[in-house]
Amino acid sequence: MTSQEINYGNVERLTGKPIDPVLWFLQRVPYLVEQARSLGRQDAHSYRDFHVAGAIAAINPAERTYWEDAAGNLKRSNKSKVCAEKKLLGRALKHGFPHVIGLVVLSTTDRAEIKAVSDLETPTLHFCGVCRDEVPQHQCVADRTLVVTSGLNEDVNQTFTVGQVASLYPQALHGDSAAAFELTRSRPDFHDWDQRIATYQMLTNGPEAVNLALEERQRLAQLALSKTVSI
Ligand SMILES: [Zn+2]
Repeated sequence: MTSQEINYGNVERLTGKPIDPVLWFLQRVPYLVEQARSLGRQDAHSYRDFHVAGAIAAINPAERTYWEDAAGNLKRSNKSKVCAEKKLLGRALKHGFPHVIGLVVLSTTDRAEIKAVSDLETPTLHFCGVCRDEVPQHQCVADRTLVVTSGLNEDVNQTFTVGQVASLYPQALHGDSAAAFELTRSRPDFHDWDQRIATYQMLTNGPEAVNLALEERQRLAQLALSKTVSI
């Protein structure tokens, strides 16, 4: 994927309406999945054939610019690995986009293979142990940063925030069955993605919505994208 940048401040000036970058990200997820599947996958190199491809959407709130990119992981036999997430976050920082709206991470949907990497048999691959430590600490990431995970070949998807992944994993790995259930239950495909975006729009469409902080929008997006909420 060619990294691409959009000046949404210009769109706001032209239309006289504020842009919600979280809604923009949600609408772009199916495209980002496609981009990660095609270009991120070509970029993924793993000597043991464990491929992870990802995409990122981030903004520069001061400049009112939105940026996207895609990448794959790198794992050579005798060198330390470079996760797709780490590459993408490094690029966000380098390109001057200090606020990550969301990450899309695609890998195997084979639960045994996933368990070997992340210690739990989840339907999609969340962060590996290293990323669970490093991603929440990254300066472009907040607790509410969204993480949409799916398969390189299969359309099953899950959505969590970075803060949820960071807190649920230690609980689940120490035997908390509610946390494990939250992470491992199967999740939907993309056929009703638009309906879930519509749920997000309903949640953010109140009279005070203009003043909703970005982080609150990300929290509501996670609720709308997970099928746990019915409104
Ligand atoms: Zn990782």
